[in-house]
Amino acid sequence: MGRRRLLSLSASRSLVSLLISLFFACFSLVNGKSNLTRPSFTHINRDLYHTSVALMDEIKALVHRHPDKLFLETIRSQNKGYHAEMTVVTYCRNRKEIEDRSKFRILLSFGQHGRELITSELAFRILSILSEEQFLPYMDPITLNNTLEKLVIKVVPMENLNGRKLVEAGDLCERRNGRGVDLNRNWSVDWGKKEKDYDPYEENPGTAPFSEPETQIMRKLSVSFEPHIWVNVHSGMEALFMPYDHKNTTPDGLPSHRMRSMLEKLNHLHCEDRCMVGSGGGSVGYLAHGTATDYMYDIARVPMAFTFEIYGDGTASSKDCFKMFNPIDLTTFNRVLNDWSAAFFTIFNMGSQQLDELHRKASVSNLDKWVSIDDYLNGYLMERKNRYGKKMEVLDLGMQEIRTYFRLFLLSSVLLMFMFCSRISKSSRQIVSGIPI
Ligand SMILES: [Zn+2]
Repeated sequence: MGRRRLLSLSASRSLVSLLISLFFACFSLVNGKSNLTRPSFTHINRDLYHTSVALMDEIKALVHRHPDKLFLETIRSQNKGYHAEMTVVTYCRNRKEIEDRSKFRILLSFGQHGRELITSELAFRILSILSEEQFLPYMDPITLNNTLEKLVIKVVPMENLNGRKLVEAGDLCERRNGRGVDLNRNWSVDWGKKEKDYDPYEENPGTAPFSEPETQIMRKLSVSFEPHIWVNVHSGMEALFMPYDHKNTTPDGLPSHRMRSMLEKLNHLHCEDRCMVGSGGGSVGYLAHGTATDYMYDIARVPMAFTFEIYGDGTASSKDCFKMFNPIDLTTFNRVLNDWSAAFFTIFNMGSQQLDELHRKASVSNLDKWVSIDDYLNGYLMERKNRYGKKMEVLDLGMQEIRTYFRLFLLSSVLLMFMFCSRISKSSRQIVSGIPI
């Protein structure tokens, strides 16, 4: 996300710089000298950034040191000879309670676009704080413990490992997976729709929804885990997005209101009100079709689904991708990791507060005892019939299909009748015309 707006800004900027360099080039040539220099692009700063192999090794070692809290699994999938593997780390304060469905569940994905290296560094920082090897300033350990006790958090530190490897091999502008598909256009909501300014290099949606093994793995994960919060973490700008990406509106009702107020709070606390807040499609300047967050909200029914954009350098040249998507100096690198890991712990805290609020309400009224956190977040307390929303949706779909079949049946009967009648009238005309004069 964020790329195209930056591109247009930097495109005009690079046009100006191109004109200036042409002017100077002509000037030098007139003077009998050539002064053309090759542009230099920023390379990955290895003092700040891990390689993908080193980062995964660090994460594996971290999990190994904290088997009581962290659990690691590697999921593999393939399609037509293209293989992908994904590491998923699950945090649960007491590992035995990992399957406890009364806990608040959070799913976080980082590195969906290869070139956004900073996001995977943030994943590692969050896991280090969760395992208490690193600490957040101003965070009271007792509050933190109380918060974390109520949660199960799944972290995908590097969703697009194959794409990331291409970036590390020197293609610093690569955002797609190992075979050129944008993993944030490969989901089923409004899949494959192309805007007028569609860029096939950046946004190739694949041959079908879920054609890519990486997307298949993420979908399975969301279906089995049923998160209450989903965050897709990107870079390229500073923004806190909620659905929708494929249209410039936000959903209606209480869940939407709850999402927006959470984002506004995060913007104020951790982004100094600099971040753009709102629907992805309405704020970023272009619509995105087939995105993960729209799927999570609309189909997987995750009550709070977000896309965060954690850093962007709008002054970087459009070809200087490493600089455009990642901090290049130590101070900014640390500032981004500190601010955004604090933002995630605010989210964890809000999640556990919502769980407390639910339990409080349940103990006040006997009637509300059977309300689950899922119903609550889906706006159940505002509108009871929502409890049956999903069932009704299936029934509605069934009825719709029956209606369609009935209409088709009626139409074909009318057509048959028409053909039958016209046959009869033709044959009677033939008999009439066969009479000799
Ligand atoms: Zn991105």
